Amino acid sequence: MHNLVILGSGCAGNTAAIYAARASLTPVVVAGHEPGGQLSITTLVENFPGFPEGIDGPVLVEQIKKQAEHFGAVYLNGTVIEADLSKRPFRLNVDNEWMETRALIVATGASARWLGLESEQKLIGHGVSSCATCDGFFYRGKKIMVVGGGDSAMEEALFLTRFGESVTLVHRRDEFRASRIMLDRARAHPKIEMLTNTVVDEIFDPAQNVVTGVTLRDLVTGKVTRRDVDGFFVAIGHIPNTKPFVGQLDLDPDGYVVSHGGARTSIPGVFHAGDVQDRIYRQAVTASGAGCMAAIEAERFLEHEGH
Ligand SMILES: Cc1cc2nc3c(=O)[nH]c(=O)nc-3n(C[C@H](O)[C@H](O)[C@H](O)COP(=O)(O)OP(=O)(O)OC[C@H]3O[C@@H](n4cnc5c(N)ncnc54)[C@H](O)[C@@H]3O)c2cc1C
Repeated sequence: MHNLVILGSGCAGNTAAIYAARASLTPVVVAGHEPGGQLSITTLVENFPGFPEGIDGPVLVEQIKKQAEHFGAVYLNGTVIEADLSKRPFRLNVDNEWMETRALIVATGASARWLGLESEQKLIGHGVSSCATCDGFFYRGKKIMVVGGGDSAMEEALFLTRFGESVTLVHRRDEFRASRIMLDRARAHPKIEMLTNTVVDEIFDPAQNVVTGVTLRDLVTGKVTRRDVDGFFVAIGHIPNTKPFVGQLDLDPDGYVVSHGGARTSIPGVFHAGDVQDRIYRQAVTASGAGCMAAIEAERFLEHEGH
């Protein structure tokens, strides 16, 4: 029986582990399928406070983990595939082994949706990104491409006009999911060019480990063209990692955990931290801040319950 189990080893889970370990809760962190979380697939992070020269994402998240281990947090390799939150202690099935805990922090993140091209996966962090706030700054005066047709794609494209020489927005249909106002704003921007009924077939150049261009296919004419591109942003949504909690935790229609104030979920003793609840900011520092909040709330909950 554990006092506190933390699900996820990204910035949110690892920061929660620091606070919980320092509160002598001996937290157990279940690392998940992606130890280190999303920062483990990026390169330079320039906006996490405390690193004037920037820091490599995987190094940053590993340092936070080491800090948590230093205070007694225990890390388990594994993924929660099923959960029973109907009564306390909560029960978690981690790769077919059940564990029990008095309190739980869900810090399982929200994974970016990708196009699924092999070249795209190879170039994440090397010109391919899913976060304009994070990586737009690297493309000053460069050619940027954004893929997507919803509000977040419009937002990313508009934000990226601050940096890029040009921003090409590629969308596979000729109708957009984006709201009228966002679409009009993007259409009116002199730096934004829109290519509709168009898909990206390939991103170059994994051999050079940097984005140099793409091939585009017009879905109406079938015509294939090549374009030079320096920064490639995929803005087709995120998938919150909440599958084991469906029907138990209060989730919104897209699957994000609904906050019941602070770090509280719909179930007392279960707390949320980071991108799994956050569809707005999605930053390492906000995830870390949320991890801190969740650990403090978990500690107070356990104290109140006499543990
Ligand atoms: C390419 C890229 C570049 C980025 N660059 C920056 C940047 O420069 N600056 C910045 O501030 N932010 C950046 N971000 C965003 C930042 O990485 C996220 O906001 C942050 O990682 C969110 O932290 P998190 O802990 O909430 O979730 P995540 O980092 O997504 O971690 C989720 C964790 O949950 C685990 N997990 C998932 N499901 C389960 C399960 N069922 N059981 C157990 N564990 C589970 C995963 O294995 C993972 O360890 C970037 C993101 C990407 C994708």
